[in-house]
Amino acid sequence: MHENRESMDTVAVHGGEPRPGPEGSAVFPIYQGTVYEVEPGTGYHDLKYIRLNSTPSQRYLHDKLAALEGAEAAVATSSGMAAVTTILLSFMRAGDHLLASDCLYGGTHDFLTGHAADLGWTFSFVDAGRPETWEASRTERTKVFLVETITNPLMRVGLLDQVAGFGRREGIVTVIDNTFASPVNFRPLQAGFDVVFHSATKYLGGHSDLVAGAVLGRADLIERVRQTMNLFGGSLDPHAGFLLARGIKTLALRVQAQNANALALARFLEDHPMIAAVNYPGLASHPDHAHAEKLLSGFGGMLSLRLHGGEQAAQAVLDAMTLAYVAPSLGGVETLITRPVATSHAGMSLHDRERLGITADLIRVSSGIEGTQDLIGDFAQALDKANVI
Ligand code: PLP
Repeated sequence: MHENRESMDTVAVHGGEPRPGPEGSAVFPIYQGTVYEVEPGTGYHDLKYIRLNSTPSQRYLHDKLAALEGAEAAVATSSGMAAVTTILLSFMRAGDHLLASDCLYGGTHDFLTGHAADLGWTFSFVDAGRPETWEASRTERTKVFLVETITNPLMRVGLLDQVAGFGRREGIVTVIDNTFASPVNFRPLQAGFDVVFHSATKYLGGHSDLVAGAVLGRADLIERVRQTMNLFGGSLDPHAGFLLARGIKTLALRVQAQNANALALARFLEDHPMIAAVNYPGLASHPDHAHAEKLLSGFGGMLSLRLHGGEQAAQAVLDAMTLAYVAPSLGGVETLITRPVATSHAGMSLHDRERLGITADLIRVSSGIEGTQDLIGDFAQALDKANVI
């Protein structure tokens, strides 16, 4: 398995922290002010103003985020969707073409299918695990290649190093949604990607109590994204930024516990007679296990499964959970369980869902940090109650 050279435990706590902090504080304070006195000669984008992403609390958060991914620069956004839409608005013009993985988060998928044409963009969905589909779909006007590290909700892992190499060779900006992996499990910039983004609502925040996004990469690319966002307006409020920085300090601890819980749960479920399939890249049975093991430092806290009893059985299991919350979203300290067709992928057409294998009986699990045996026990009792064999 690929090892992150620096200790993420240390980077999460100390990365980006000014030493000494303001007034010697070990915790960076919230600068809530929207407006600051202007030094002569300051350009528009450098005026200190919250919407311009340039106030002291925002700059602190940007440094902390950049440290996590080993990036030259970062900018925080008001949500994960603000991150991906601002990135695309920064690198695409009318007439341009985009390559996108065919298995994307539902919101990103719906943005492309619902709005790309209005913006004058064309796009092709490709399989991130089959380079021949990228070659076949790219055009003279392809500007961006968009993928996810671990796809939602089937947990596929593409040939990510090859995606980065293809972008380099062809002069295409490679963009990766690293939400599911978090920088603890994958550092895309080291693998050659140009731009990384996160729904920081998930693992980076980690406590299901904030909505935020983050965009990271080379300083010139991030400056372009920041200036686009300065005009489109998806800036993050300093209060949410404070919570995000606080959450980040325990990121490595949380994700290591979530990795361990997900693997234990996947192994338990794989052997259970009521389970038809378990999708987790840490299982030897997963189609991407071999290359995932080389690319990743951990297999993540997310898994999905199907039951022999179909949709009815899946819903019965959800209804019988006692510890896990039946809720969408992911990456918090509490285990969450959901049926993607009813939540994250409800906006996707039936045709697209069927083509990708996002079936009505699919259950997605975001492992929390509870005791492993308690978590397995909750699934065991729910499967017993559902009793659908
Ligand atoms: N990317 C992934 C993989 C997600 O799961 C989500 C949300 O669930 C998003 C992006 C969008 O993030 P947000 O809800 O913070 O806008």
